[in-house]
Amino acid sequence: MKRVLLKLSGEALAGDKGKGFDETTCGMVADQVRQLVDSGLEVGVVIGGGNFWRGAGKANMDRTRADQIGMLATVMNCIYVSEAFRNVGLATTIMTPFSVGSFTELFSKDRVNTAFRHKKVVFFAGGTGHPYFSTDTGAVLRAVEIDADGILLAKNIDGVYDSDPAIHPDARRYDTISLEQVLAKKLQVIDLSASLMCQQQKMPLYIFALKEEGSIVAAASGNFHGTIVTV
Ligand code: UDP
Repeated sequence: MKRVLLKLSGEALAGDKGKGFDETTCGMVADQVRQLVDSGLEVGVVIGGGNFWRGAGKANMDRTRADQIGMLATVMNCIYVSEAFRNVGLATTIMTPFSVGSFTELFSKDRVNTAFRHKKVVFFAGGTGHPYFSTDTGAVLRAVEIDADGILLAKNIDGVYDSDPAIHPDARRYDTISLEQVLAKKLQVIDLSASLMCQQQKMPLYIFALKEEGSIVAAASGNFHGTIVTV
């Protein structure tokens, strides 16, 4: 792979605390992304917002407004993680689909290509910029738009299972599974709109546990402990 999109959920960033940021986790991600960039890979990053806020199901609140808070949470996450990346010597830029003043740049494919030429890691904050979507969909959209070779999907579980291993101890993990099978078996990988875009645009997913040492670097090599979702 030459260009990848790394997707981290907000909760993954929070480590065991579940909320806010876990400095050790962010530092571990930064060290691994540094290795990828040093090896010549171009890395885009999408981070969720679930460690602060999710828009769905908020009582006494308009959904669009609630989702705007969620999108802003992803901007905060990207600012934090971008700083963690800079602390290990990486150059970074944060792009959003809406204006956040001087805090971020507006997303454009040309700007992304220029940033990658300058060996910067590009953060895609703010999701799709629209309510009723998730950062999973934002990640697939950006991966497709920037012609990424695949999405590295960091989770709190080490791949895709045929049933929930927390409930079924004999659940089996797939090394490889097609997105068609994921959809047919209704396996929980990414949400439906994100899955459909992956399928239509032939964007493979590399799913692994963020907590496992070196898992991001391993996933980028294609030889890793996890699941490849083929398209
Ligand atoms: N969000 C949105 N549009 C997008 C992406 C995200 O409205 O394109 C909002 C939505 O409210 C969502 C929140 O941002 O609940 C955080 O994103 P997500 O739930 O995907 O975060 P994750 O679960 O990956 O931490």
